[in-house]
Order: sequence, then structure tokens, then C-alpha cells
Amino acid sequence: MSTASESVIIALTRGRILKETLPLLRQAGIEPVEDMSRSRKLMFATSLDQVSLLVMRGSDVPVYVENGAADIGVAGKDTLLEYGGDGLYEPLDLRIARCRLMIAAPTRASAPGVRPRVATKFTRIAKRWFAEQGRQVELIKLNGALEAAPAMGLADAIVDIVDTGNTLRANGLEPVETIAEISSRVIVNKASMKIKSRRIRVILERLAEAVARLDG
Ligand code: AMP
Repeated sequence: MSTASESVIIALTRGRILKETLPLLRQAGIEPVEDMSRSRKLMFATSLDQVSLLVMRGSDVPVYVENGAADIGVAGKDTLLEYGGDGLYEPLDLRIARCRLMIAAPTRASAPGVRPRVATKFTRIAKRWFAEQGRQVELIKLNGALEAAPAMGLADAIVDIVDTGNTLRANGLEPVETIAEISSRVIVNKASMKIKSRRIRVILERLAEAVARLDG
């Protein structure tokens, strides 16, 4: 007989990360029982007894997991670094949705002034990065349209996710410096890891095997 303490909820990041996570979950024996892309639901039962998937924005994943509303989560390292804190275990790198968090500037930029303005969604990461290097910058928080900021005179540089670099190039920008290599990580609620240890360990082992197969 199953009990409530055996149920496991996995919070997934909607979009590109979800697309790349689903094949790994499938290989781990966890498959949604309905087509997630055709539904407006947020919660999905899976082929594995008492394991459910919950789909949300990446920035909400660590909040759900740290507070125990989900047991396990999948989110980008950029999101986790920006979230900060030490309230989560991060036992597995899924090695998917890989990209870089970079500083980028206009292609023919003149030397930066004394206190350059840097536009970013990742203010916490950027603040720490520049502080560690003793560099004075003025951070401007934006939630999107980052790449337009230098051309519009709002900022001298940006801190953003770069994959192929096409978005930067299309907006007259070039990568200047890498802050972090990014990939999607599995996070686990600390209490769940103890209380549901057996179930969670099995899921982590199966996912680790799936990642190894993907890399091999
Ligand atoms: P690209 O033009 O290929 O360099 O892609 C850059 C844009 O795609 C950025 O503005 C990011 O917002 C988004 N992007 C690329 N890769 C990822 C990823 N792994 N996770 C989240 N966003 C990404």
C-alpha cells in the first residue's frame, strides 16, 4: 500500500529546459501520462506510481523546492545562482540546455568609463562578479530586451545568456567575458532527501544513468 510520504513531486522549468529534460525522464522510467504540450494543466501524473510533474517558470522552481512544495526540481544553473542561498541540494548536472552567462558590449565600443552601466536580469550574480573583481559598475535591472539596452543608450554593457551568439551579433554586440558555464541541474529539498530518501535516490540514480548514456 502507498502512503502520502511516498509521493514525489518534480518541478520542471517550462520551455527549452523542459524539452530537453523529458527525454532524460523518459529514460529514467518517468513519462507523463498525457501530452504536456497540449494541456494547460500545471500538474501531470506519470508512468511511475506517485511521481508527478509540475511545470513552471524557472525562477519559481527553487522556490517550490526549497519550501517543500516540490521534492525535486530541474532548473538552469543561472537561475540557481541568481536565487542563491544554501537551502537546496544540487546532486546532479543534467548537462542539457548548456550555454554561458557572459558580459557583452557593442562591437566597436570605446573603453568603458569609470563606472559603466551594466543592464541585466541577473543582478545578484553580476553584483557578486564585479564586486569580487573590485570593479565599480552601475547595475540596471531589466527583465527582457536586454540586447537593445546598449544601442538605446541605456547601458554600456549587458550580462546575459549566450548560446550560439546569434542574438548578440544581430544586435551589434559581442561577447567580452564569461561569468559562468551554465547547464540544467537537479535540485532536491533537504527534508525530502531524508524523509523520502529511498525513492529520491532511485530517481537520481536513474537520471544519472540517463545522463551518462546521453554523453556516451
Ligand atoms: P543565442 O542567440 O543562441 O546566443 O541565444 C541567446 C538567447 O537565447 C538568450 O537571450 C537567452 O535568453 C536564450 N538562451 C539560449 N540558451 C539558453 C539556455 N540554455 N537557457 C536559457 N536561455 C537560453
